[in-house]
Amino acid sequence: MHIYKRMTEKVVIIGGGAAGPKTAAKLKRENPNIIIEMYTDEQNVSYSACGLPYYIENIIPNIEELLVRSPEEFERHGIKVFLRHKAIKIDKRNQMVVFEKLTTGEKLEVYYDILVIATGARPYIPDIENVNDFNNIYTLRKLEDGVLIKNAIKKADTVTLVGCGYIGIELLEAFIKNGLKVNVINNHKYIMAMFDDDISRQIQEYVMKKDGNNINLYNNQYAVRFEGENEKTNKIITNIGEEIESDFTVICAGIVPNSEIAKEAGLKTGVSNSIWVNSHFATSYPKIYAVGDCCEKMHIVTKKHCWLPLGSTANKEGRCAAINIASNNCDFAGVLGAAVSRYFDYTVCMTGITEREAKELGYDVITTTVTKEDRAGYMPEAATITLKIIVDSKSREILGVQGIGTGDAEKRVATVSIAIMNAVKVDEFMGLDLPYAPPFSTAIDPLLNAINIIQEKLDKNIK
Ligand SMILES: Cc1cc2nc3c(=O)[nH]c(=O)nc-3n(C[C@H](O)[C@H](O)[C@H](O)COP(=O)(O)OP(=O)(O)OC[C@H]3O[C@@H](n4cnc5c(N)ncnc54)[C@H](O)[C@@H]3O)c2cc1C
Repeated sequence: MHIYKRMTEKVVIIGGGAAGPKTAAKLKRENPNIIIEMYTDEQNVSYSACGLPYYIENIIPNIEELLVRSPEEFERHGIKVFLRHKAIKIDKRNQMVVFEKLTTGEKLEVYYDILVIATGARPYIPDIENVNDFNNIYTLRKLEDGVLIKNAIKKADTVTLVGCGYIGIELLEAFIKNGLKVNVINNHKYIMAMFDDDISRQIQEYVMKKDGNNINLYNNQYAVRFEGENEKTNKIITNIGEEIESDFTVICAGIVPNSEIAKEAGLKTGVSNSIWVNSHFATSYPKIYAVGDCCEKMHIVTKKHCWLPLGSTANKEGRCAAINIASNNCDFAGVLGAAVSRYFDYTVCMTGITEREAKELGYDVITTTVTKEDRAGYMPEAATITLKIIVDSKSREILGVQGIGTGDAEKRVATVSIAIMNAVKVDEFMGLDLPYAPPFSTAIDPLLNAINIIQEKLDKNIK
């Protein structure tokens, strides 16, 4: 049963990316009488940042296609939208937010009954000499960033990527597809370092085998200085003195939460300075919630607080927080860091924790890696996938899986997500009734094959 609070309550939402709009839309459906005001410092609300690499690549020709909902659509549903309004202070005792109207500099004090902080995250800029001195160094987070990078491509032959995680590999595809030579400076042994080394090595091998002629990889190095003239950098110096020349640079070295405003208001923060929340997305102070990339998460496997900022999660969190504001009955299960990306036809995905993380956390792990066709080998579309499964040998529960390859690795990883959420043991998993026909799978799915091997290893105590 939904027990609504005071009918005319006013909810103020700071942030209009993914989590803010989701909170607003769901809350309005839950309680049509509630007053909702959503503020953003941007010119747009509710857009898919996840689509930006594909806009840059040219798969999506118009940036407008990434807009999910316009301010007018929100207004039609009774949600007031304030564009170009930056929250500069939360006065939690008086339940007020001070906004700066970016078009005029005017300050506004806005009262709230409930406040939702959905301020997201921003690119992390490493401490590189002269990083702020040139106008051809970009990051990718907002729609305008996508437009700037797409324009930069038109005048360039070479580009340098600083960092190569999920956004990096998607940009790598976009740049290669657009005929650029790409330098990658990566301060890890291999690109895609969130995977275990044995998997990220295979990802790197695929990328280099396919496009190595146009990619210069600078692994185990980091940028220390930009050089150039007339506000344009054309050279990056790395820590070992390598001099890397290119027409422009994109820094994709991770992100940091936009949590300063919450911290200054005295709200508790946690992992990576993200805003502490409980499983209802309530912060440490009454009447204030936080959702999306700005807030901490609970890891389903480790049962520890973590910071795994993803769009999939941000949307679910917004929905759950809205239910809690309306009726206080959504308990969020937590996250697994389930993520997927691709390099052209090659999928890279994972869920749960890696072998490296599991060992750091003290698990006695047992792993197996299988490489198989993703469907009956006689089908013309059959392609290879590699699955690495990580299991806790004591509980026999699956801790994580990593999937790569030109075949359908993603559906196997998604299946494991459900198993981990339900603490399914390897032995129970073996009985999983998966659909089979030659165009879709093999009679014993590669995932079950991997689980079978793990079960045997567990039973025979083979490491
Ligand atoms: C290139 C790219 C690709 C991605 N691909 C994927 C993917 O494939 N899968 C996936 O799950 N995730 C992906 N993500 C991540 C996903 O986009 C984010 O997790 C998601 O946008 C987080 O939503 P959010 O609402 O918490 O934050 P955001 O979308 O960052 O929205 C926060 C908003 O708050 C505004 N704001 C911040 N501070 C203030 C303030 N003080 N006052 C007013 N407004 C403020 C910001 O300007 C922003 O508009 C990708 C991200 C990028 C950049």
